[in-house]
Parts: sequence; C-alpha cells; structure tokens
Amino acid sequence: MTKNCIVCQTKLVGRDGRKFCSDACRIEHHNQLNRSGGRFVRMINERLRKNHRILCELNCEGITKTNRASLVIRGFDFNLITMIERSSNGENYFYIYDQGYRMFDNEHYLLVKRE
Ligand SMILES: [Zn+2]
Repeated sequence: MTKNCIVCQTKLVGRDGRKFCSDACRIEHHNQLNRSGGRFVRMINERLRKNHRILCELNCEGITKTNRASLVIRGFDFNLITMIERSSNGENYFYIYDQGYRMFDNEHYLLVKRE
C-alpha cells in the first residue's frame, strides 16, 4: 500500500507510519492545525462580542427588564457566557464580560451591568 504526504500529496517512500514527505510539510501541517484552532477561538469571540453588544443595546441604563423574544430576535446565543455568579440570595447571574442577565421565568430577564 502506498501513502501520500497529507499536506502536499507527494508519494511517501520509506518506513511505514510516515505522514509527511518532509519537515517543511510536517511544520505546515502543525501550522494549519494552529490556524484552525485560532479560527474556532475567533468564532467564539465574535459570538461573545455579539452577545455583549446585544445586552449593551438593551441595557443602556445599567439595569433593565426585558423578555426572551427581544434577545432571540437580535440573535442572542444563550449558550455563550463568560461567567456565572450566584448572588447571596441564590440566584444565578450569567455574564458576558461586564453585561449580565438573570432569568425571572422562561420569558423575562433582568439585565444588569457590573460596575
Ligand atoms: Zn509533503
């Protein structure tokens, strides 16, 4: 069975188990992996920034009540937060950086801003 370099597709000769034809291709492969890791991080950061922007739009005063639809229609992603904080009375506040929210019920949210 012949195998090809996974980067440049050059036919590999020599011992089994090789994946690259050269050090250059081995390095290129690891650079590609790092770049794809970077893309994922960038994608998450963009989505976090979008969430943060949405909360800023809705909560210009420092504390506001809103509803789920207002968040959803703007594309808010409830899966992406940077921190959870439990208040002294046991309620969870979900933060994206300095902008946070707490659920009243399935429809209503309190938006808060950290000082
Ligand atoms: Zn190669």
